Amino acid sequence: MVLNEIFYSIQGEGLNAGVPAIFVRFGNCNLKCTWCDTKYTWHPDVQDNFEATAKQLFEDIHALGVYEKCRHFVITGGEPMLQQPVILALRKEFPDSYIEVETNGSQTVRCFDDVDLFTVSYKTSNSGNPPYELKTRNEKCVYKFVVCCEGDFDEIEKIIRQYRLPADKIFLMPEGATREEVLKKHPWILDRCDQKGYRFTTRLHILTWGNERQR
Ligand code: SF4
Repeated sequence: MVLNEIFYSIQGEGLNAGVPAIFVRFGNCNLKCTWCDTKYTWHPDVQDNFEATAKQLFEDIHALGVYEKCRHFVITGGEPMLQQPVILALRKEFPDSYIEVETNGSQTVRCFDDVDLFTVSYKTSNSGNPPYELKTRNEKCVYKFVVCCEGDFDEIEKIIRQYRLPADKIFLMPEGATREEVLKKHPWILDRCDQKGYRFTTRLHILTWGNERQR
């Protein structure tokens, strides 16, 4: 398996924002978002992934020394759904854990039974990627859209209509790698959520620690 980092922090975004979690960051991604804040998982100039066996991954998780008090995993990347057998292995090793997967939604799900929540962040054109099919859609999904400017809303609405995504499963989240960038987008994104019946999520880790790694 190709991994990037394993650490303990709080989930900063989405349905479980504020929940303490063990993060397993997978290496590699099939997209190239211009504003990606984890380019070290895929960009040739800065990538620092490493190869590991399942045994090494489990040892690294146990070495954090928090599993007794924290059974919440956030499987993130990069794009973790490129390595779905790892998620099956994690479920087998930690059967009583809660497994949340963060994905860009481009991959067909084959590990449905082993995951408790998919946080699906379809990347619209503000990411610099061409349109792609949203394949990760099921009853365990919530959908998180990254918003750069008010002009993004039309395209987000088009995706929501195209895939008939339920309003109460939609999160709008400000793009930004600094506290200032995130906070200045709060008011008009909150207004939009109120108008449409969507949920709002900020980025707690950015507000608290800026773009510090392993936070
Ligand atoms: S999908 Fe996620 S990891 Fe991949 S380039 Fe975009 S933001 Fe980065």
